[in-house]
Amino acid sequence: MKLKAFHKLSYGLYIIASEHEGMKSGYIANTAFQVTSTPSQVAISAHKNNGTTEVILKSGVFSISVLKKEVDTSIIGEFGFMSGNDFDKFRNVDHDVQSTGAPIVTSQSVAWFDCKVAKHVDLGTHILIIGEVVGSDILSDEEPLTYSYYREKYKMLSPKNSPTYIEKSLLEEEEDSIKEQKEEPAKEEIEPSAEDKHICTICGFVYDPEEGDPTAGIEPGTPFEDLPEDYKCPICNATKEYFKEL
Ligand code: FE
Repeated sequence: MKLKAFHKLSYGLYIIASEHEGMKSGYIANTAFQVTSTPSQVAISAHKNNGTTEVILKSGVFSISVLKKEVDTSIIGEFGFMSGNDFDKFRNVDHDVQSTGAPIVTSQSVAWFDCKVAKHVDLGTHILIIGEVVGSDILSDEEPLTYSYYREKYKMLSPKNSPTYIEKSLLEEEEDSIKEQKEEPAKEEIEPSAEDKHICTICGFVYDPEEGDPTAGIEPGTPFEDLPEDYKCPICNATKEYFKEL
């Protein structure tokens, strides 16, 4: 099996949200897709350890917000990499409610779907939740975000609870073996400047000094040590002390 083949599957990025007895919950997902047109049904694959999964199953409702291509990554940091137990994820985002009562995040979104759970299937680590769409709307004509664009731009891997998670060491092993097959003799020339890369221990974003961080106005060629003291991870907003050398 070639793990990299899984990166050729196309996805978007979405906020899935629900509410039960006054408790709002939401997370970032790449697996949300239409499964039938009559009736209009969609499916999501949600990890059992994800707090939102329980809220969806209890309330029987959920929403899907389709994120825009040039998304403000702090929304991905908060909804994707932080726990709703620590703070209210909805405090800084515009959200709305339609007929099901599930909160719908409208900040940073180009469209939304309001859904009632039709059935769910236990897949082991995840639950496949199928929802009937009872309402939907377009919020903007901007392009939606695709998962591959996001992954390329921010050098991100799927977080551990994602259905599309692949262990990083396995991917690297696979890449190394491909490299070895392709270029046997040139091995010693590689890795001149890879040492100064730093990884965010919260979300896995990698700061590469060769590229800088255009989203924060950091020029290519800026070593990690020279970043301003108030530099924050572009994905999850973590401060510099959460980074460690790769
Ligand atoms: Fe981060």
